[in-house]
Amino acid sequence: MNAFSPAHFRSQFPALSGAESYLDSAATTLKPEPVIAAIHQYYSSASGSVHRSQSRQARLLTDHFESARASVARLLRAPHPEDIVWTSGTTEALNIVARCYVQPRLAPGDELIVSEAEHHANLVPWLMVARQCGANVIKLPLNAQHLPDLDQLPALLTPRTRVLALGQMSNVTGGAPDLARAISLAHASGAIVVVDGAQGIAHTAVDVNALDIDFYAFSAHKLYGPTGTGALYGRRELLREMSPWLGGGKMVKQVSFSGFTVQDAPWGLEAGTPNIAGVIGLNAALEWLETVDRPQAEHYTRGLATQAEALLSRRPGFRSYRSQDASLLAFNFDGVHYGDLATLLAESGVTLRAGQHCAQPLLAALGVSGTLRASFAPYNTADDVTRLVGSIDLALDLLLD
Ligand code: PMP
Repeated sequence: MNAFSPAHFRSQFPALSGAESYLDSAATTLKPEPVIAAIHQYYSSASGSVHRSQSRQARLLTDHFESARASVARLLRAPHPEDIVWTSGTTEALNIVARCYVQPRLAPGDELIVSEAEHHANLVPWLMVARQCGANVIKLPLNAQHLPDLDQLPALLTPRTRVLALGQMSNVTGGAPDLARAISLAHASGAIVVVDGAQGIAHTAVDVNALDIDFYAFSAHKLYGPTGTGALYGRRELLREMSPWLGGGKMVKQVSFSGFTVQDAPWGLEAGTPNIAGVIGLNAALEWLETVDRPQAEHYTRGLATQAEALLSRRPGFRSYRSQDASLLAFNFDGVHYGDLATLLAESGVTLRAGQHCAQPLLAALGVSGTLRASFAPYNTADDVTRLVGSIDLALDLLLD
C-alpha cells in the first residue's frame, strides 16, 4: 500500500474528467477504472452464470463469485464467507432481516427500538413488520449532539424488546454512535442489534465479530462498487434460523409438488440468478481499496468538509448540521430555501443533494424541512471547496437580493 495521494486517487475516476464538482458521494460514490474494467471484462467474456454450468469458464466464474464472499467477510471481519448473503443493497438486506428473521419471531406487544437518526431503509421495514404483527416501534431519541441518545437506551429496553436498529453513521449529520455500548446494552436485555452500515462502510472500519453485531448491511455503490449489489452479514446461528423470503431456483435442495427443502445459508437466501457483474464489481472495488491508505484518505476527506464548514460559517445565516469530524456537511442558510440554492448550485456545476435525505424523522428532530448536503470523497480537492463556497456566494447574492 502506498501513501495516500489525492491526485493519484482522483486520476483513477474517469467520471471526474468533466467540469462538474461532484459533492454527492454519500448518495453514491463514483467508480474507479479497475471496477469499470472488471465489469466490462465480465460482460465481454462468455462466462455464463454461476453455480449452474459445468464449463471450465463457468466454474472459474463461480470460484470468483464465491471468493468475493470471502473478500466481504475479510472487510467486515466476519468469521466465515458463508456469513455473507448477497443482496441488491442495504435496503433489501434490512428488509430481509425484518421479514426472514424478525417477523416470524414477533408477537403482538413486542417492541423494536429504532433510532431517530435512521435512514428510511432502517425504519420503514420495522414499521411494516410491526404493523403486520401488532408489535410496537419505539423511538430512541437524539441527544444534544444529534446522535442516538444511548443514555436513554437502558430505560427503553424491556423484556419485550426484540431488536435495536441503529445506523453506523448518519447520512445527514455524519454522526456515528458508540456501537459497542449500544450493542452491549441491547444484548444484556436479550435484543438483537441490526446495524445499517450504508454510510459507515466508506468511512470507518468495522469488525462485526469484535463488536458482536448480529446483522450488518451495506451497499456496494457507496464503496466505489456498482449499484444493485450489497451484502448482509448475519451471525451464523441467526442466518441458519432464517426462513427464505424469495423462493425459486438455486435456493432449494429438493422440490416436488408436495414441498421443498431449502439450501443452507447463505445460498438458501439467494433465489434466482444473482447480480454476477455487481458482485464482480464489488470484489474489484475491495481489491482496489486494499491499495489505498484508507485512514489517510479519510483524514484528507474530513479535512475538506472542515474547510468548507469553516468558510461557509463566515457567511451570515449559515447553519450546519454536521457532526464533528464528519466527511459530509448538511447545511442551510436562514431565509433561503435549500431547493432554490441547490438549483443555482447545479447551474454552477456543483452537484450536491438537497431535501430530506430519506430521513424525515431526523430532519423533524433537527427542526428543518430539508437541508443541502455536500458530501466529500478522497477524489475531491480544495478546488471543489473553493467552487462550492464561491457558487454559494453568487447564489446567495441572487436569492437574498
Ligand atoms: N442507509 C443509509 C444511512 C443510507 O445513506 C442509504 C442510502 N442513501 C441507505 C440506507 C439505503 O441504501 P441503498 O439505497 O443502497 O439500499
